Amino acid sequence: MSSSDVTTRWFEVLDESASMIAEKESTTYLDGLYFTAENIASMEIQYGPREELEKLYAPLYKLKTTPEEVRRAMQLALLKGMKGGVQAHHQMTPDAVALFMAYLVNQLRLPDGYSVLDPAVGTANLLTALLNQTERKIGAAFGVEVDELLVKLAAANADLQQHEIELYHQDSLRPLLIDPVDLIVADLPVGYYPDDENAKNFQLGTQEGRPFAHFLFIEKGLNHAKPGGYLLFLVPNNLFESDRDKRLHKLIKDEAHILGFLQLPLSIFKNKEVAKSIMLLQKKGEGIQPPKQALLAELPSFQDPKRMASAIAHINRWFEERRSEGARPAGN
Ligand code: SAM
Repeated sequence: MSSSDVTTRWFEVLDESASMIAEKESTTYLDGLYFTAENIASMEIQYGPREELEKLYAPLYKLKTTPEEVRRAMQLALLKGMKGGVQAHHQMTPDAVALFMAYLVNQLRLPDGYSVLDPAVGTANLLTALLNQTERKIGAAFGVEVDELLVKLAAANADLQQHEIELYHQDSLRPLLIDPVDLIVADLPVGYYPDDENAKNFQLGTQEGRPFAHFLFIEKGLNHAKPGGYLLFLVPNNLFESDRDKRLHKLIKDEAHILGFLQLPLSIFKNKEVAKSIMLLQKKGEGIQPPKQALLAELPSFQDPKRMASAIAHINRWFEERRSEGARPAGN
């Protein structure tokens, strides 16, 4: 069976089970999907009609499956469940973007056994894509998410893919019980941060008017990375234009080196207003040099293999040069 057949088979089972549980328990498809993932991961029917589900799941246990095939199947089911019901800025990270971010992580000089945190983990699609693709051993993975259903889905998604992720259900902009990490990766929630009181604990939360959550997430990330650690954020294209008083830019420059800013192809997004870029930072630290030149690029459509290959060659060359500049691995 081909890899895409395995993914399709898993999706069909997840989909049928989620719909069945949703109907029997009078709940939503996403709740049904969560119960399904828990049933399958624990190999025990805890939710829904036992006999029917046992029969439905049985072929899956015999199927040789990789975590990446399960992630893709879960992603399809999550997309179906989220259709229409989820705000644009809370949506799951699209597959192509998650895989591209995972490729960038593989270019970084991270130590073996590195730690990674996604402070806006959502369904864990982005974080598990990275865990599935990483060429270096991961020591510890952490995720934080404010939405209760999403954090439950993230836990079930991680269980199904057999990844150990320490998940926290809380506002990431409140104190975290997580030590500083080697890598922070996030598809940032974009918009205003509603907790005015807590915003005052941030340098970027003290100006007139309500601050942007994505600005505060960047400040929080800079505080939560080890010296020399990396931060890889999916941000709005107009991040720096919306920074009217230049305080975000100053904070980033004081605390980190801007390694790269890569604009994703507009074709991935519903409209120009929600188009995004990937920003790569390295927190300052002993022996960490600024790049001779930041990596700046507008990426072509992921569907255009020729132009994409040339963009990747350019990015690879940039990282080779950066590595030869002697940028020391984070945390060492
Ligand atoms: N990467 C995620 C995935 O693959 O599913 C999607 C991230 S989505 C663009 C942003 C996430 O940030 C949403 O799931 C949203 O609920 C979460 N979020 C928003 N504000 C938050 C906060 N203050 N603390 C923690 N999570 C927050």
